[in-house]
Amino acid sequence: MPWLPLLLLLLPKLVLPNLLMTPSKPAAAGVVTKEVRVVPVLMAAGLKVQAARLAQAVPALRAAYSQALARWVGDPGLRLLALPIITECYRSPERQDELYKQGRSKPGPIVTYKRGGESNHNRLPAPALDVAFLLPDGEVSWSGLLLSRFARLMKAADARVHWGGDWPGFKDRPHFEVV
Ligand SMILES: [Zn+2]
Repeated sequence: MPWLPLLLLLLPKLVLPNLLMTPSKPAAAGVVTKEVRVVPVLMAAGLKVQAARLAQAVPALRAAYSQALARWVGDPGLRLLALPIITECYRSPERQDELYKQGRSKPGPIVTYKRGGESNHNRLPAPALDVAFLLPDGEVSWSGLLLSRFARLMKAADARVHWGGDWPGFKDRPHFEVV
């Protein structure tokens, strides 16, 4: 399976804190302060979860995600901004039904129009996965700008990849699938 060696190859890049020390002006008291920029990273437990989620995807989607992630992490600008993470790949029909209730019989915005068993997330291996971003401060972001940048890399990796942000009507920007 080509995606696993690729993921392992990326591990040092993702794990090492990689601090960029930028000296700034000396403070009034003569103390030199330094500005520290930290690349968003996942610790070992987080990487394990990511590998497990990726393993649930169909091979074509796994390969496309691995390639897009490698391109993202290899880009000096993008890697400082955020780190792509898979928030969900396979989703049980029971959980799908719970999500369907959101915005209908339960509070919150509507996040899906599919009931349990109807979503591509409900198959195993799954032809769909959802992406978000880990920011340098540890927060998780669903920025449309970041997702559209990542979508370009996903579609470049494999033309069979469909991005939920391209759908007419309901835009599901975190969503990627291979059909
Ligand atoms: Zn999705």
